[in-house]
Amino acid sequence: MRIGVDLGGTKIEVAALDRTGTAVARRRVLTPGRDYPATVAMIRDLVLAVEAELGRSCTVGVAMPGAISPATGLVKNANSTCLIGHRLDRDLAAALAREVRLANDADCFALSEAIDGAAAGARSVFGVILGTGVGGGIVVGGRLLAGVNAIAGEWGHNPLPWPDDSERPGPLCYCGKPGCIESFLSGPALAADHHRVTGLRQTAEVIAQAASAGDARAAASLARYADRLARGLATVINIIDPEIIVLGGGLSAIASLYRDVPALWGRYVFSDVVATRLVPPRHGDSSGVRGAAWLWPEPAA
Ligand SMILES: [Zn+2]
Repeated sequence: MRIGVDLGGTKIEVAALDRTGTAVARRRVLTPGRDYPATVAMIRDLVLAVEAELGRSCTVGVAMPGAISPATGLVKNANSTCLIGHRLDRDLAAALAREVRLANDADCFALSEAIDGAAAGARSVFGVILGTGVGGGIVVGGRLLAGVNAIAGEWGHNPLPWPDDSERPGPLCYCGKPGCIESFLSGPALAADHHRVTGLRQTAEVIAQAASAGDARAAASLARYADRLARGLATVINIIDPEIIVLGGGLSAIASLYRDVPALWGRYVFSDVVATRLVPPRHGDSSGVRGAAWLWPEPAA
């Protein structure tokens, strides 16, 4: 049996999956705020509680913000900053007395959707998180592309391609550079762009609802968003040429994107026809725990 842990900034979710991918036990708690030792202890307690409930030991995979740096062994790039600089893999292995596999949360999302989700059976998959941040993961032949720097798929910190004058230099990103894709395509970025143009302070969710109800200003903001997403994904298609792109995160709920973005990306992709499909996720919020569990092969016992 496999246990997957989704370590998020606000919640920790744990699920045990059987061979068929059915979740047979679950736990969900709030993440201890900015407290690294308490976070490690919480994960240990949740895993042990699930194993006690099932009466067996399991493999453990963890979806985490950021990644373990192959150069230093320390967490980097995590928006849950209390993790940065810690040896999370070693500390969890010590706490649980076994090897623990960790992967970036967007990578786990991509793996989950590629194994038995919206991209099941596809040879190449790009999984995208559009939420408070923008991330991505690449799965080829059912296997996650880890990458020598542990950053494969991190398109959110590439610059927005084909910017017009109003998009240059672009908002300053927390990574220190202006004009990152994330600073245009995250949920807060959509809200900030809408505010710059309309003066209205509305969340991405409210903007999407207003647009579908016929509000012209909200529709214009979503149209700008869709064109930027099409440009950002076009550069991904030019490099990876994936069969399927799966959207995840809060903004993946905006149904119009699946119609509008493929209608736009043909202008930017270097191909006569774009056969790549853009699809909504199947597992949604569960993809963190599911992809984390799939980091291990099925144990023999
Ligand atoms: Zn950035």
